[in-house]
Amino acid sequence: MSNAISLGRDSDPAFTREVEERSGQSVATCYQCGNCTAGCPAGSVYDRQVSQLMRGVQLGLKDQVLNSSALWFCLSCSMCSLRCPNLIDVAAVMETLRLMAREQGRVKVPRVEKFWLSFLDTVRAFGRTYEIGIMALYMLRSLRLTTDLDLAPEALKKRKLPFKPHVAPDGGAAAAGRIIERFRKRSKSEGAAQ
Ligand code: SF4
Ligand code: SF4
Repeated sequence: MSNAISLGRDSDPAFTREVEERSGQSVATCYQCGNCTAGCPAGSVYDRQVSQLMRGVQLGLKDQVLNSSALWFCLSCSMCSLRCPNLIDVAAVMETLRLMAREQGRVKVPRVEKFWLSFLDTVRAFGRTYEIGIMALYMLRSLRLTTDLDLAPEALKKRKLPFKPHVAPDGGAAAAGRIIERFRKRSKSEGAAQ
């Protein structure tokens, strides 16, 4: 597949408006300097670079943007936001695009979503990440039962995979659970596929 943005497709101005409203960012001010792309640590695996996605949003190219697998490889590191000379919170735009893609059933890399859900399950239960729990849930969800198992002995040796979860103190676990549940309910009421 070509990674070029096609200008020949129909554009959807409502898509541009929705992304701007939901992210709170003025994507129109992007002048394609490429700073965000130059600093993006995940760009080498993107089908479309982050500056291309920004241009796609400007042009209302909804299908090309929301169907991009890059949305699912983004690390949410915010380097793009930090480097943008126009002070656009590019990472917030990426987050908005992911939410919209998810709502519309366009998750192009389902295993990434499965990993996130597994991560959130452990945070909801313990208030903190629980690496072995994430691995087990991810393996069950994805049926990738041997994925990265070769790394386990080394990680165990370095005590990076504790068998017992660290539970957040002072009601932290319950508080994390409430936050996640609140977001889930809000997403459902806005029509997100959970
Ligand atoms: S937030 Fe995503 S798009 Fe932005 S620099 Fe990090 S990985 Fe790249
Ligand atoms: S750094 Fe900002 S202005 Fe430059 S291409 Fe990225 S979003 Fe656009």
